[in-house]
Parts: sequence; structure tokens; C-alpha cells
Amino acid sequence: MSHTAELIAVGTELLLGNIANTDAQMLSRGLSALGINVFYHTVVGDNPQRLRAAVELARSRADIIITTGGLGPTCDDLTKTVLADCFGKQLVFHAPSARRIEAYFQRFHSNHPMTENNYQQAMLPDGCIVLDNDWGTAPGVAFKVDGTHVIMLPGPPRECSAMFTHRVLPYLERLAEGAIVSRTLKLFGIGESTMEAQLRETMNAMTNPTLAPYAKEGECELRITAKGDSPAAALALIEPVEAHLRTHFGPLVYGVDVPSLESVVFALLKEKGLTLGCAESCTGGLVAKRITDLAGSSAVFRGGVVSYATTLKHTLLGVDPGLLEEYGAVSQPVARAMAQQARQVLGCDLAIATTGVAGPDPDDRGNPVGLVYIALATPEDTWVRQIHLSMGRERIRHIAASHGFDLARRYLTGLPLDSSPALTEEKSS
Ligand code: ATP
Ligand code: MG
Repeated sequence: MSHTAELIAVGTELLLGNIANTDAQMLSRGLSALGINVFYHTVVGDNPQRLRAAVELARSRADIIITTGGLGPTCDDLTKTVLADCFGKQLVFHAPSARRIEAYFQRFHSNHPMTENNYQQAMLPDGCIVLDNDWGTAPGVAFKVDGTHVIMLPGPPRECSAMFTHRVLPYLERLAEGAIVSRTLKLFGIGESTMEAQLRETMNAMTNPTLAPYAKEGECELRITAKGDSPAAALALIEPVEAHLRTHFGPLVYGVDVPSLESVVFALLKEKGLTLGCAESCTGGLVAKRITDLAGSSAVFRGGVVSYATTLKHTLLGVDPGLLEEYGAVSQPVARAMAQQARQVLGCDLAIATTGVAGPDPDDRGNPVGLVYIALATPEDTWVRQIHLSMGRERIRHIAASHGFDLARRYLTGLPLDSSPALTEEKSS
């Protein structure tokens, strides 16, 4: 039986435009990957009558209602009261949740004593399934009345997302009567619209498994989700689709079920016993930051030089001043020299270098915003990639750093580094 979910976000701050409803985006994405239909999102303020009306409407057209927000200890947190009332339930004190909240306060807020109203959060609808919140104080709630599943989640996105993944997904997977398995292919070097155009017909024709694309910061994801009688049966449905996509997208696929491009580079370096360093200009340390965000990075990362000022490219890195003079700091020869010098100065096997114009204005040689050279120096050779991005500063820098990792990933897996056909088409998606 197919299920239909409806999302109700509770919070006046959403209606005022103070925050965006990112919880709904995250939930919808997760639900669609499970093959659960979502036909409506509602946002309602902290107002009991209007929330009640939204719930009654949702109840008339969906069999799963998920609310976000309004589970906290303050008086405007009314979600549980209203939902319990709508479904004829009493709020009762749930002692284990009270103990968890006390423990959470002791751990994270030892200088803020817990107040009486924090115990409000332990008042839960009778007979509900308690969704323990290990990421905050307010527990989530799930119950079923007359065929409608009601799930209430806390509003803060970090909590909402973790609760969805670790508490709600297992609950929903049980509803699915069978196993749901998903695998996520990660791609770098192709724009979302190109990827979608290539897959649209396939995606529309698919029912099990389903294919859900997702794009973020110059990268794309393709999540394949299958339902089967057992996890093995579901996986067997996924495998041919995954193989087909891998063949179709070839070297653009950098991993499956991996957290990030840099984590792939990290694992490859570790496996091969190689080290990485970087010389960064326009990315200002982002390459170094992203690799050192990974626990254990000291095993592979030597360090980085942020040679932002042109003179430092010479004094710190030893780039030939003649090159800087002749070609300018944002140029292919300088990117190449920065990477090569970084290998020497930092004593690493591989070095990534970035130099470009992140904006908002063109550089003094008239190079346009969004022009970036990214180089990779290795014991064998040095490669330089040139990209043009028409987007904001932050995204240019992020994507430039990603290109550095992509070069390293290609080198470490023996893929060609020269041809990168789709790389400059990523304009401003
Ligand atoms: P708390 O215990 O923090 O009060 P809560 O479950 O009561 O949690 P709210 O009070 O409604 O949640 O929201 C807390 C914060 O979470 C909001 O200020 C907002 O920053 C964020 N938030 C709430 N709802 C959403 C949403 N739908 N999308 C994104 N962020 C949200
Ligand atoms: Mg609140």
C-alpha cells in the first residue's frame, strides 16, 4: 500500500520569514526517497486554532502527518497539546523522558539549572512511541489513531534531521512491510540540470527502485531506493541500476554512500601511504580546512600555505617572481608553480594549489570574477584545471576547493586528469 505524508511546520518565525523551512526540505527529500508521496507542506504560526485546522485538513488527505517545531519548553510550544487533543489523547508524564532531559541538562547546561517548564517536554500523548532525542531535550513522538500515523519532531534542524534519520526512518521502514534499502551515488563535475536531463525519462519510468537526484555546491547525488521482501532482495534491485549509472556517468562518480569528496581523497591517500599539502590563494585555507575536518587527517595531511598576497607566493612558496610579473597571480603558470613549490616546501607527495578571482570585483589584470586555476602537483606530473563560475564568492571558493580534491581523486584512482568535459558547464545552478 502506498503512503501519503503531509508536513506541518509550526512556528510564527517561519511565517515572518525569519527562518526558512529547511526541515520540510530535508523531510520531503527523505520521504520521497522512501517512495512515500508528499502532496502538501503547511506552515502555521504558534496558534492553536490554526494548527488544529491544519491538522484536520492534513488528516483528511494523508495517512502520515509529520509536524516540526513547538515541542520545546516555552509557552508557544503547543504542538503536542493540539495534536493530542485532535486525536483524542491525554498528555501524561513520561518519567524516562524526564530523566533523559535531566541528564541532558547536566551534560550540556550544567551552569543553567533546569527549570520546571523543562518537565513540560516529558508530557507525552498516552500510548505513544517515544522517539528519544539524543541531540537535544525535547523527545519526539509517534502514534497511530484510526489509520493515521502522527509523528512530531523538534524544530531545530540539527535535531530534526538526526531524529528523522535515526528514529523516524526505522519507524517508516516498518510501515513499508518489507525492506527499504538505498544507495547514494555521489558525482562531481556535472551540473544538476545536465544530470536530470540525461536521466529524466529513466527516472519517470522507474517505480522500484526509485531514483532521486539532489544537487549541492557543485556536486550531485543520485539516491537509488528499492523496496524488497528482504534487504538482500532490495539490494538486488538496486545493483543493476547502480551499475548502469556508474557506466553512464563514468569517472564523474566519485563514490557511493561516502560523505564527501575530501573523505574519498583522504581514504585513498591513507590506503596508498601518500601525503597531501596545499598552497591556497582564493580559497584562503578551505582545502586545508576541509581535509582537517576529517578525524585522523594528520596521517595524510602535511599542511598548507595561504599565500594570499602576490608577494607571499614568492617569499613563502618560492614561486618565480618572473612568472608572477609576466602572467599575473591568477594564471595557469602560477597555479602550476604554486603546486610544485608546495610539494617542495611542505615535503608532501601531492599538492593542491588554487589561485583565482572569487569576487566581488575583477582582479587588477582584468581577470573576471569566477575564473580560478586549480593545480595538482604529483611526483609524476602537474595538472592545471581552469574553471569559470558565475556565482557568489562563497560558492566559488567551495567549488574551487572541490576541484582540487577532484584532481587528487582522479590521480589517485588512475583516471585521466586532462579531459574534464563537463566541468565548466556548471554556471549558476
Ligand atoms: P526548542 O526546544 O528549541 O524550543 P522546538 O521543537 O520547540 O525546539 P521551535 O521552538 O519551533 O522548536 O523552533 C526552535 C528553532 O528551530 C527555531 O527558532 C528555528 O531556528 C528552528 N526551526 C524551527 N522550525 C524549523 C523549520 N521548519 N525549518 C528550519 N528551522 C526550524
Ligand atoms: Mg520552541
